[in-house]
Amino acid sequence: MTGPDVLRLGAESDADLLASCRRRLRAVLPDLPSSLDDLRRLMETVRGRRIELTMTDPGRLRLPSGLWGQVRSAAGVHDLVWVDRRTSPFARTVVACHEFGHMICGHEPDPVPGPPPRPVAALAADLELDPAQVAAIVGRCGESCAPGSPEWRREREAELTGRMLAQHILGVPPRTRSSRRG
Ligand SMILES: [Zn+2]
Repeated sequence: MTGPDVLRLGAESDADLLASCRRRLRAVLPDLPSSLDDLRRLMETVRGRRIELTMTDPGRLRLPSGLWGQVRSAAGVHDLVWVDRRTSPFARTVVACHEFGHMICGHEPDPVPGPPPRPVAALAADLELDPAQVAAIVGRCGESCAPGSPEWRREREAELTGRMLAQHILGVPPRTRSSRRG
């Protein structure tokens, strides 16, 4: 495919994707959340499991700006959304909403068959999780996926859905400023 064809396909796909993401978001969350914590609680109800949202400084670990992981423990499986806190509240909200966007789009993180990659294992230990409990992860990646590939579509859907969520949350004046890091 030559340049203009690729561009046109990309533009059409984006409009279609945006429309389907908007429909899905409305179906999953008819009442949009006004804060990240509202979003977390609503998605706990949707998914029927605990969702931990945590923002920490990963120090020198080389990690994407956000991760969605599934953690297996004696209490069952719960979701973990981790966001690098070394940026602005605006950027943290956008990254967290991207990860929740994956859940809303019905994506599943990739199973981790063995020990998780070293930076994720180190992060898990920092979060006082046994790295062996990390069952699946998806990282927010800047790496280029071939347009139209399943990976590209997954990231694009999460990004578009996350953007709609973040626009809503960031447009709503905070009721109370939370000092909680998570
Ligand atoms: Zn992603």
